[in-house]
Amino acid sequence: ASVMELDKMDENDWKYHGEGNKSLVVSHVQHSRVLRLLKYPAEDSENPPQTAEQAFRQIQNIVDFSSNVMSSLLGEKFIHSGEVVKLPLEFVRQLSIKIQHQRPAWRCDKVMDIYSGCALCLPNLTSPGLYQPTHTPPLCIEIKPKCGFLPSPKHVSKDIKTKVCRFCMHQHYKVANGKWKRRSLYCPLDLFSGNRQRMHFAIRHLIEEPQNNFKIFKGGQCIYSSKEGSEESMDLNALLHHLRPYFLYGNNRINSHMTSKSVLNDFIQVLGNALLSGGGDGRVLMDRQGEGRSFCEASLFNMERIRHGSQGLPTDSVLFRILQTQMLDTLDIEGLYPLYRRIEQHLQDFPKERTRLQIDGPYNEAFLEKLQKCSMEDDGSVEYAVAKVHQYRVAMTAKDCSIMVALVPSGEEADDDEGQRRLREFKPPAFSYSVSILDLDPKPFDSIPRQLRLDQKIVSCYLRTGGALP
Ligand code: ATP
Ligand code: ZN
Ligand code: MG
Ligand code: MG
Repeated sequence: ASVMELDKMDENDWKYHGEGNKSLVVSHVQHSRVLRLLKYPAEDSENPPQTAEQAFRQIQNIVDFSSNVMSSLLGEKFIHSGEVVKLPLEFVRQLSIKIQHQRPAWRCDKVMDIYSGCALCLPNLTSPGLYQPTHTPPLCIEIKPKCGFLPSPKHVSKDIKTKVCRFCMHQHYKVANGKWKRRSLYCPLDLFSGNRQRMHFAIRHLIEEPQNNFKIFKGGQCIYSSKEGSEESMDLNALLHHLRPYFLYGNNRINSHMTSKSVLNDFIQVLGNALLSGGGDGRVLMDRQGEGRSFCEASLFNMERIRHGSQGLPTDSVLFRILQTQMLDTLDIEGLYPLYRRIEQHLQDFPKERTRLQIDGPYNEAFLEKLQKCSMEDDGSVEYAVAKVHQYRVAMTAKDCSIMVALVPSGEEADDDEGQRRLREFKPPAFSYSVSILDLDPKPFDSIPRQLRLDQKIVSCYLRTGGALP
């Protein structure tokens, strides 16, 4: 039977896979498919905040935004937009009961939508294709990188915003408010730097304090992620136990006492290579191919790149494409807010304009054109304001998305001559890999005032306490 024969949907074919702030994901036990269901605040569990038609529209908007807008900005090869499905309500109800006890307590302020019967059906990016059960299962690493650049001094009222990045300031705010027990030392500017040492440092800190920015899946199962509220630090030994078999080769395979440090270093290096690569259907080796050959120090262009935080990122890499899209936020929330107000004012006078200006979609080619055909100069028009707000919203999505890197060891395939040779010659293992981007929901127009308030709170908290914290 096919995966999605709607009259034969059985909750026993699906299991809890994970969740974010806005949606809950279940995966099929046999096929490489997931269902992504909406969530809403638990207070509203008796009366859902929207009708079934509205829920359907919301998910269709997600698909359209991903396939028509984000995919042309980020690169089609990274994107899987999926499709909206209508599920039997009885199936959804049984599913929600079945998975409830597996949900982390800290996510239970929201409940799964069991009323609309709508969901987004996507390929399961943590178990790509079918792998031989006798072979080592694929290793998938999910990174939510957040914003990788500093705003321009032209638009910000507080100097600190041009010195300390948003993620790092937000960390102080989250610890001060009890959201996390410990601050993460991960900095997105390091990850997006394209500099091997800085990227290594960034990934190391993601591993040490994953929060909601880092997860590892093995054969489709989450084996490493943050437990919220936990006082202890992460169990690195358990992780190393999982990773070790993937990094045994040459001498290590023979006497098998590869140090923990070198297992972790190799893992970080392979992950870094995948993030800098062209995106997949390729091989990532452990050698530092091409490093140091990508720019000339005498070039002024190189200075520009350093200033913009994208030093040396290969232009076809997933990190480059995400950073470029994030940088469509050229005005910062402070420079953007007056334009948001201009639109709001205009809509008060001409409510019907909301449709023509595509404030809430549809997210089609015309929407993409509106944001790409934006002139540099503010001519005072509502069209200019709309284009900048559309750009800002697209940048917000790129600041909130996740990268999934799937690594499939290719060294042990019997018919893989290269793999055999690598083992004999004690060369580091090769992985087949693929890179995807997920979680590309449009951010609502009305969330902009909230963004400004949050920005002000984070900055003032940092200025009050942050710089002083250890
Ligand atoms: P956020 O709070 O980050 O906005 P969200 O509520 O929008 O999250 P997603 O990030 O899309 O939800 O999904 C939640 C989690 O489910 C992801 O972090 C990922 O681990 C998993 N997931 C989502 N889509 C897929 C997929 N196609 N394949 C495998 N796992 C997935
Ligand atoms: Zn930072
Ligand atoms: Mg997410
Ligand atoms: Mg999301």
